[in-house]
Amino acid sequence: MPKVQLPLIPIRDLVIFPNAVVPISIKRSRSVQALEDALVKEKKVVLVTQKKENVDSPFPEDLYSVGTIASVTQVHRLPDDVITVLVSGEKRVQIIKYAKLEPFFKVEVEEISETYISDPETDSLLHTVVEQFKQCVALGKAVSVETAPAIFDLSDPVRTIDLITFNLDLKTSEKQQLLEALDFRSRLEKISEFLAREISILQAARQIQEKTSEEIGKMAKEAFLREQLKTIEKELGIKEEREEFADLEKQIKAAKMPKDAEERAFKELGRLKKMPPFSPEISYIRTYLDWLVSLPWSKKSESEINIKAAEKTLNEDHYGLNKIKERILEYLAVQKLAGKGRGQIICFAGPPGVGKTSLGKSIAKALGRNFVRMSLGGVRDEAEIRGHRRTYVGALPGRIIQGIKNAGTKNPVFMLDEIDKVGTDFRGDPSSALLEALDPEQNNAFSDHYLEVPFDLSDVMFITTANMLDTIPPALLDRMEVISFPGYTEEEKLHIANDYLLPKQIEAHGLKKSQLKVPEETLKALISRYTREAGVRNLEREIATICRKVAKEIAEDGMKSTKVETTDLKKYLGPTRFESWAIEKKDEVGVAAGLAWTESGGEVLSVEATLMPGKGNLILTGHLGDVMKESATAALSYARSKVSDWKVPEDFYSNKDIHVHVPSGAIPKDGPSAGITMATALISAITKAPVRRELGMTGEITLRGKVLEIGGVKEKVLAAHRAGLTTLLLPKRNEKDLEEIPAKTRKDIKFYFVETMDEVLNHALTHSPTSN
Ligand code: ADP
Repeated sequence: MPKVQLPLIPIRDLVIFPNAVVPISIKRSRSVQALEDALVKEKKVVLVTQKKENVDSPFPEDLYSVGTIASVTQVHRLPDDVITVLVSGEKRVQIIKYAKLEPFFKVEVEEISETYISDPETDSLLHTVVEQFKQCVALGKAVSVETAPAIFDLSDPVRTIDLITFNLDLKTSEKQQLLEALDFRSRLEKISEFLAREISILQAARQIQEKTSEEIGKMAKEAFLREQLKTIEKELGIKEEREEFADLEKQIKAAKMPKDAEERAFKELGRLKKMPPFSPEISYIRTYLDWLVSLPWSKKSESEINIKAAEKTLNEDHYGLNKIKERILEYLAVQKLAGKGRGQIICFAGPPGVGKTSLGKSIAKALGRNFVRMSLGGVRDEAEIRGHRRTYVGALPGRIIQGIKNAGTKNPVFMLDEIDKVGTDFRGDPSSALLEALDPEQNNAFSDHYLEVPFDLSDVMFITTANMLDTIPPALLDRMEVISFPGYTEEEKLHIANDYLLPKQIEAHGLKKSQLKVPEETLKALISRYTREAGVRNLEREIATICRKVAKEIAEDGMKSTKVETTDLKKYLGPTRFESWAIEKKDEVGVAAGLAWTESGGEVLSVEATLMPGKGNLILTGHLGDVMKESATAALSYARSKVSDWKVPEDFYSNKDIHVHVPSGAIPKDGPSAGITMATALISAITKAPVRRELGMTGEITLRGKVLEIGGVKEKVLAAHRAGLTTLLLPKRNEKDLEEIPAKTRKDIKFYFVETMDEVLNHALTHSPTSN
């Protein structure tokens, strides 16, 4: 090739290879002038790289001596006198000499001829280089879309090699070396070396990128999911639920549970947090935790037993009951001296309305403790006392723990009503669970099936109540200190009505004391004609009715005040309900008054007997219990054995049936104490000797006509007094019980203590059966 002279443009940091199409920016004035020169001629320039890129006005010695001839294909003149030129490399040239230095370099160059000589080694090297380059591209090396096909088109190996070289990520000086390297083999070797380096760099970069993108991916995923969760939670209001966890945690800490209970609570809370929001178990765990945190594990009323103050409170709230109050104070004194964990369980036994509950409340008030009440009526299942295991759907703690929760403190006065109504059946014996809860010696770690952690009940003061003692499970009765409430006399009721019930009801109905006056006479009539009970519950109810009606009159009719006279009772309460047993009734044949003891105190029962044609059968009616039926049979046997003494045909029973009936079907009747009453009614019916109307009796009968001791004397005598009986026959052995009867009542009644049926008949019948 002939030597040509061409304008030279120095390039700071690029090596232009043949076949490369590259945009370059030209700003230096020498370069601009060189370009201008080229543009007006054959548009060719020599591009030579500077040895040091930061030299602004390079001299020939600052430039490499091998460069590239390129043709200028496009020219863009930008503001700031910058010209962007697209140059297309054509041939390698060796600068022979600088023909001109001013105003721009013009050089004489000689083309370096390159011929690729194919031999297996060079070919395989070329192949390796191309593969390496492919790998680079695969690893993410950026190659312009236009050059890629040309690189991989191996029809012109020189072009391929130049393009690869141009696209290598090399320092300028390294590229220049490759531009100058004339031997293909050694050039390919160098390229391969550089490519290997680039591959490892790219691989490392990719690894780093993968790792980071994995990391980033993970983070992005999490962030994304979190965002989604937030939206879902917002939609469903679960957010608040999560906030509640924090709340629960606070509550657990605030409940100050014993260590094992607290650990348990936190464990359950942990489970709760992990549950998916819609798990059905969530509500069970929540309920459980709610129970745990709401129990008064360490909340106590400040309570000190002050016997004097307690006595004052009990007296203020209750009339009479002196013996009972004394026993309560004794009990409290023992508690005070011996400390907790001592003593018996108290049981208040007596008919309804005698003040058992209100006395319990008074005790709580006197001790400055909370009061709770829980009925045990109808409890047949151990689980009702001790709770159901949590595996049951709808499981709850038992009544003891429920009561403690209601109390809100761990040392309340806890009244368990109707302990005599606790039953036993196949579901387990509630009485043993009750004993475990009540017994001060073993209740410091009461285990409720639902709670699963023990609760200390030793600070609780338990008071049980019962109407009768017979049905209390013996194991329980054995551990209880029974305090009996026998019922009130009319006199006592009058005091209670006057001093307690009336003022209480006047206040409860929003009245003033001055607005309602009920004289004693009226109260007496109210007690005897409108109520017949051992306690004062109905009496209180009737007084409340009067107060209500008077309040209405005052509010509606503008009345200032009222005085309720005996005659007004009909207006307020309707016709009288009870009449004295003996009033306006004459002595009758075959009817005797017996005294019974029931849950509601004493009762007067009339026993009727009659003879009718038949075959000697004994018919018993009136819901009699087995024991009572047996005593009727015994009474009849006795009567038959005595028939010869009386003016009665000896075979009277062979053509007669005997019917014994005890009216008032609703009252459960059992027990042996009606024995002498049934015998009296029978013998009266057989002998036609009438029974004294004003006389009542109670006592068990033997076949030989002996009268045996019975129980519940006080209740029975009070009931007889209420009913207006004036003479009573009691077994001789019960004479000692008369002490318990208020003197006033004793004075009103004539007592006869009997040992035999003959004595009974002597007193009861108006005339002797033998003297008809
Ligand atoms: P129980 O629990 O025995 O069925 P309560 O305690 O409910 O009876 O008593 C019924 C009502 O009679 C209550 O209002 C109570 O205050 C009142 N009461 C009973 N006995 C007396 C008493 N001795 N003094 C004053 N009020 C009494």
